[in-house]
Amino acid sequence: MSLIVQKYGGTSVGNPERIKNVARRIAEARKRGDNIVVIVSAMSGVTDNLIKLAKEIMPLPNEREMDVLLATGEQQTIALAAIALHALNVPAISLTGAQAGIVTDGVHTKAKIHNITPKKVHELLNQGNVVIVAGFQGETSEGQITTLGRGGSDLTAIALAAALKADLCQIYTDVDGVYTADPRIVSGARKLAEISYDEMLELASLGAKVMQSRSVEFAKKFGVVFEVRSSLNDNPGTIVKEETKSMEGVVVRGVALDKNQAKVTLVGVPDKPGVAAKIFKALGDAAVNIDMIVQNISHGSGAPQTDLSFTVEKADLLKAQKVINALKNKVGLRDVITSEKIGKLSIVGVGMKSHTGVAGKMFETLADAGVNIDMISTSEIKISVVIDLAKGEAAMKAVHAAFIG
Ligand code: ADP
Ligand code: ASP
Ligand code: MG
Repeated sequence: MSLIVQKYGGTSVGNPERIKNVARRIAEARKRGDNIVVIVSAMSGVTDNLIKLAKEIMPLPNEREMDVLLATGEQQTIALAAIALHALNVPAISLTGAQAGIVTDGVHTKAKIHNITPKKVHELLNQGNVVIVAGFQGETSEGQITTLGRGGSDLTAIALAAALKADLCQIYTDVDGVYTADPRIVSGARKLAEISYDEMLELASLGAKVMQSRSVEFAKKFGVVFEVRSSLNDNPGTIVKEETKSMEGVVVRGVALDKNQAKVTLVGVPDKPGVAAKIFKALGDAAVNIDMIVQNISHGSGAPQTDLSFTVEKADLLKAQKVINALKNKVGLRDVITSEKIGKLSIVGVGMKSHTGVAGKMFETLADAGVNIDMISTSEIKISVVIDLAKGEAAMKAVHAAFIG
């Protein structure tokens, strides 16, 4: 008997019919004699709506209360999924993240999993149940409800698969697998049979929302091989696993566009030791994730000054502004300019380690498409550029055509 972990995302459980479809799939898998643990997301749109409601009351709501609010989304779906299984005469029981033994730190809205003690899950499986666990949520050791960051049900699934030593981990979603680019934007995108953890991690952190990046990080760390596949058909999906030698033959595995970034430019920053440290320490303390950072060369006739730009997630922009405004006088910044009209376009591939000329080809493609590059950052296996949001999708298509076809 195998233990299978299946995760169904928001669209897959988006309405009663879809929930019944998921129940039928689970029932089929169970018929084969396996133990099944299911992780579900909130129904599509529910989490966004809850956030919107809170922000209509206050632009920067208390994060503990946001977690209490957002955790209700998944709690609805676990019960509905259990009811749908009961309707098929399949014994099933729902558990919140806390009941499933998921213990996190106390960083509300972005909590990290500390440990999982899935005692209850084992007990209920042994009694013959399908166990349905709420994704995206956990509890601190003091009993506070937490959530794991947007898309966090993926993390619940991978982490539970690791803790339960599952034989199979399947991430069911609304596309057939991981593609060379978002198939909703690039019509010529191709489904990948397999992809390495590192490539999936880069693509996910760079905007390919098919997997939450922290879940891929976790999978890599604990060696959880998983498959991304569709809840709407039986097509084989994409296997995400450790890099193999043959993967290096492909220079660019995928292209990603992140439309959720914002840029902050600090104008007239005193160019002396300790200033950048002060700024980024304060942002870090407020749990604002910083991505790209670019510092200009010094200017000004008196004491040297510089301009400093960095990108943050749009969701963190207000918080970042608050932190910077509190520091403005202390540090002596002249001005703060923000823009949400940026897109981050990236190409990713382990093959970049052994190929040259990749950046040149990307920049040339963008130049030919009339796209100006605002910021650049690279790693061993990726190149990212910040560009005008309005040109993002056209640029993505051009770069995909140049590297993948
Ligand atoms: P779920 O609700 O199942 O977690 P998500 O909406 O979070 O699903 O992720 C699936 C979506 O990710 C797809 O509908 C697709 O538009 C998008 N996506 C972005 N990049 C990719 C990619 N490279 N391959 C597949 N899907 C992608
Ligand atoms: N419901 C949460 C979200 O929308 C978690 C998830 O769907 O994975 O981000
Ligand atoms: Mg998702």
